[in-house]
Amino acid sequence: MSDSEFDLIQDFFAGLDQGASVRLGIGDDAAALSLPDGHVLHISTDTAAEGVHFLASLSASDVAYRSVMAAASDLAAMGATPEALLLALTLPEGDRVWLESFSQGLADACTAIGAPLVGGDTTRGPLSLTVTVLGSTPAEHYLTRTGAQPGDRLCASGTLGDAAAGLAVISGQLAVEASAAVFLATRYTRPAARLALGEALRSCATSCIDISDGLLADAAHVAAASHVGFEIDCALLPLSEAMRSSVDPKQILDWALVGGDDYELLFTLPTNMPLPDGCTEIGRVVAGSGISCDRTPQRIGYDHFKR
Ligand code: ADP
Ligand code: MG
Repeated sequence: MSDSEFDLIQDFFAGLDQGASVRLGIGDDAAALSLPDGHVLHISTDTAAEGVHFLASLSASDVAYRSVMAAASDLAAMGATPEALLLALTLPEGDRVWLESFSQGLADACTAIGAPLVGGDTTRGPLSLTVTVLGSTPAEHYLTRTGAQPGDRLCASGTLGDAAAGLAVISGQLAVEASAAVFLATRYTRPAARLALGEALRSCATSCIDISDGLLADAAHVAAASHVGFEIDCALLPLSEAMRSSVDPKQILDWALVGGDDYELLFTLPTNMPLPDGCTEIGRVVAGSGISCDRTPQRIGYDHFKR
């Protein structure tokens, strides 16, 4: 006899709901969480559909891991500490081997972000996941897209373009030497939400966003929200050794400027604030509007509805 929805929830998800803030986890009509005194809740949700956000060939554990990190990255951009997540999962069938791998990836991601899975929904249909993350910050102390000031430094964490290169490696469009291939592919399959950096930036950055759709596209959102312009200096873009050693320089810049899925943070810092470790100044905030950049890429960001 095949498994019921409840068997699957019990076997693959119910064990992931332990955490300090959890009053009530999986199994009731709603979860209940306690928040630290004087804190506010930040809530964000992200859907990943097979064939749109990830290739059908991606392993179940990577599908789960990436989806959680993509959602957690939005909390990092707010400077929020993850408290819990919810998963709405649509599955073509109750394949236990696939679910075993999926729930392992989910467990690894929950451990990595330090938050439990406290609920969700399970339905049948084409594979799709919606991850909702809940995070907390002190009530008056979080990051937004709106505070960039002319004169601030424009900064990015980590290295840019790796995930786009990794996707090209995975889909057979880029052939590179073995260790670079593993590094780049892993940057796509196992991104790291910059949560600790986000929390640290609460006390110094004037604005922040996570780079999910590509540097230029995400920078444009912050510039518009803050009513300022950004100047980006392409010579300063942080690039990984794997990229520099194995990818054509023109292609590198395109990926660094418009490649999505890196989940690094882009933020603005007043000039008197020190640059956090692992971050790079890539330009400056100016009066005006829009992004000026000393290179023109072929396309800007990804938009699901643009034709
Ligand atoms: P209801 O019918 O009241 O909405 P469900 O039968 O859908 O409840 O779910 C039962 C319990 O299992 C709930 O606590 C729900 O949050 C949890 N749950 C369902 N699907 C998932 C999932 N994919 N991941 C985590 N928890 C889940
Ligand atoms: Mg339900």
